[in-house]
Amino acid sequence: MTDVRHDATDLIGAPVELSVVIPMFNEEEALPALVARLRPVLDGTGETYEVVAVDDGSADRTAGQLEDLRAVWPQLRVVRLARNSGHQAALTAGLHHARGRYAASLDADLQDPPEKIPEMLALARSRRLDIVYGVRVNRATDTGFKRRTAGAYYWLVRRLVGSHVPAQAGDFRLLSRNVLDALRALPDQPQVYRLLVPWFGFPSGEVAYHRDARVAGDTKYPLRKMVLLAVDSVIGFSVAPLRLATWLGSLAFLVCLAVITYTLAVYAAGATTPGWTSLIIAVLFVGAVQLICLGVLGEYLGRVYTAVQQRPTYYVAEDTGTAAAPMAGIAWPGPRRGRDSTLDSLGGPAGP
Ligand code: UDP
Ligand code: MG
Repeated sequence: MTDVRHDATDLIGAPVELSVVIPMFNEEEALPALVARLRPVLDGTGETYEVVAVDDGSADRTAGQLEDLRAVWPQLRVVRLARNSGHQAALTAGLHHARGRYAASLDADLQDPPEKIPEMLALARSRRLDIVYGVRVNRATDTGFKRRTAGAYYWLVRRLVGSHVPAQAGDFRLLSRNVLDALRALPDQPQVYRLLVPWFGFPSGEVAYHRDARVAGDTKYPLRKMVLLAVDSVIGFSVAPLRLATWLGSLAFLVCLAVITYTLAVYAAGATTPGWTSLIIAVLFVGAVQLICLGVLGEYLGRVYTAVQQRPTYYVAEDTGTAAAPMAGIAWPGPRRGRDSTLDSLGGPAGP
């Protein structure tokens, strides 16, 4: 299979020092504020840079706004995905297309302050680091629910995946060309970057930042997507749930042994009762454990199936930074996420 990701010959423009990758999904409200804050910071660094805005199948005026902005901001490059593929897939597309010596990724809603990017770059250069994480020192502006679910998420992944995963580091980080090349060399699979990037083990540092409130618009991460990210994180990096199935099965077996002993004892004493309640409980319990185990196996099997299909996790409809025709990348979603994809969104309204 020809891997278009590694073919850089169709790229126009020279490599730049810094790429800033921003996944965007229906961010028409946040985009003007983002540009107003980001551009002075990047212009002020004196570095050659490009901004890779990944339009993740937005159905609002994001695409039109980006098109208008390109006319006045030459460093802005738009990678438009054919449909909504999810935050991590959009990030994948952006990182694969970034041609900087370093690439910073941040959210479009200004929760990650762009002013920290020069600091990250300076730290990476001075200490020869390949990764600089943006680590949140407070989440005061998040809702209580978001704080608690995020706390539970980091607790769980650090327990299952390892304590090398920095707590409270989201997708605001700077990566060197080494890491970007390593990412591009990975097989076509859904990625959870906040776990994958630490897993590489490249030298890394941290920059602390205050997480601001979303500047405008609503969150694009409803509970359903948060749960999917958590499931992907756990299943993608740990076999612990498979072991959980074994433990549950063993526990059920022990309980069954105890019940059998009790039943035989009661039988021997000649005091057998109809035993309807205990029978139902035993049947339900064993049935539930079996279903849990099947479900766990199904989660892994589903991912193996998706990986075997080798279907791209994203498809680039347009890249304003290349002279060539649209090209395929690799991309998730797998079967489940495909459901919320909207090819219709391509026909969304044009820009202002
Ligand atoms: N995003 C995306 N595709 C999606 C969902 C979100 O590209 O399907 C982008 C979104 O535009 C934003 C970033 O991912 O730039 C993080 O999303 P959001 O700020 O809504 O998440 P939250 O901060 O509420 O967890
Ligand atoms: Mg946000």
